Amino acid sequence: MQYDILIVGAGVAGLYAALNIPPSKKVLLINKTRPWECNTYYAQGGVTTARDEADIPVHIADTLEAGAGMCNEEAVHVLSETSREVVRDLIERGFAFDRAEDGRLLYTKEAAHSADRILHAGGDATGRYLHHFLLRNNPHPMLANATVIDLLIEEGQVCGVEVLHKGERKQILARQVIIASGGVGSLYRFHTNAYSISGDIQGICVEKGIPLEHMEMMQFHPTVYIGNQSVRKQLLSEALRGEGARIEDEDGYRFLQDYDPRGELAPRDIVSRALFDYRKKTKKQIYLSFEDFDPEYFHRRFPNISENLRNMGYAIPKDRVPISPAFHYAIGGIKTDLEGHVEGVKGLFAVGEVASTGVHGANRLASNSLLEGLVFARRAADAVLSEEGSRCLGYFPVNREPLFLEGDKEKKERLRRIMWKHVSIVRTTEGLKEACEEIEAMLRPPIGRLLKLRLLTAREIVRAALARTESVGVHFRES
Ligand SMILES: Cc1cc2nc3c(=O)[nH]c(=O)nc-3n(C[C@H](O)[C@H](O)[C@H](O)COP(=O)(O)OP(=O)(O)OC[C@H]3O[C@@H](n4cnc5c(N)ncnc54)[C@H](O)[C@@H]3O)c2cc1C
Repeated sequence: MQYDILIVGAGVAGLYAALNIPPSKKVLLINKTRPWECNTYYAQGGVTTARDEADIPVHIADTLEAGAGMCNEEAVHVLSETSREVVRDLIERGFAFDRAEDGRLLYTKEAAHSADRILHAGGDATGRYLHHFLLRNNPHPMLANATVIDLLIEEGQVCGVEVLHKGERKQILARQVIIASGGVGSLYRFHTNAYSISGDIQGICVEKGIPLEHMEMMQFHPTVYIGNQSVRKQLLSEALRGEGARIEDEDGYRFLQDYDPRGELAPRDIVSRALFDYRKKTKKQIYLSFEDFDPEYFHRRFPNISENLRNMGYAIPKDRVPISPAFHYAIGGIKTDLEGHVEGVKGLFAVGEVASTGVHGANRLASNSLLEGLVFARRAADAVLSEEGSRCLGYFPVNREPLFLEGDKEKKERLRRIMWKHVSIVRTTEGLKEACEEIEAMLRPPIGRLLKLRLLTAREIVRAALARTESVGVHFRES
């Protein structure tokens, strides 16, 4: 099978790249499970956009401030300056953001934004609406239930991928490959991510010596209901706090004010750490309270959260809900330039959550990631089209490494616990070293390839966390 372009991943980044590549190109999208099992589908709050020309420098300033001095400023300028253009493009293609009765676009506010500039759809179902829209408009064929287990590279030129599809390993060749495979959620015990998101491709990059960057920068969401049984925990969107939900302890005390004068509107790393610290010190249960909301408005504005919580036995907005922080977003990833080029491999691109352009620095501003997916996917698509790529004539021997072995499942579970215990919100040298040793031990054969890729990605996160001895943004070192 020989294609012009392969796109690995069918979330916002993969699908918007696909939408910007004409059907005259022979393109194949590959995704791991069912097409909707991706983080994009679960996004709630919305898509950030500069509201007008005057808001661009303000949005840039908010993004840089959240990024705690580690943002690539050029990337942030591109993000904000292109935001209005991609939003206009989506609207012109027929996507319906929520509007007021008089037709005005409705904007909301989330933590650390100094203005209302977040567009949403279906109330709190922005991701689902956007994903459905992009899938419906995708002009190219898609291979679902296919896991990429290797990148085929010959003399510094990408030649395609190896996939596991219907129990068989297949090589699919292409001149250019865009990786849009998302973050690393399944490496952590508690997370908000789709179950298909497990950092496989980042692991392949480690194996091939393709640089990853800022891997210590992993973002945790402060308001997650972790009482449900499924692996993916129920996120309670930042927009809830933006519009008045309060964090309180079991006695109703709003302790966040003791940590930061912005209270509920402080950046999410500060809120996550405050929750972690307060719980450790007091052992008290922490809640999200919605009592200031008008019930009718709440159900209309947050229909999905409302429905999900009702199914879990809560009468919202009357009942408060117990919360905990959980892993949410991978800031670090495959190092790319602003056109998505991956260093050292011709024809290879990475976009979306899997990539690191430096746009989020040490902390991502809420709702900047769907925007990042749109902006940088389009730039990568333009670069792919302007470069053509070259055809490989090489032969790639079949990789005989076993994919799964007995005992992998238990090790996968152990990894998730180690990452949560030692590599989450508060990190210590001792804990990180222990995590590193445990991961090294698990990496010793015999293990299956899919577990090995997770472990390699996890080890990269731990090594990066060990290397950064100071606290910055989401990376907090207690010792
Ligand atoms: C619950 C939740 C709420 C969020 N809310 C917001 C929000 O309101 N606003 C915002 O801006 N951001 C939000 N985010 C973050 C945002 O949704 C993600 O960062 C963004 O959707 C990532 O898009 P992506 O296309 O890079 O990856 P994803 O949408 O995660 O897609 C990744 C794709 O890669 C595929 N894949 C993975 N591994 C492989 C493999 N080995 N082989 C083949 N395919 C593979 C998957 O199947 C999937 O199709 C939220 C995230 C979560 C989890």
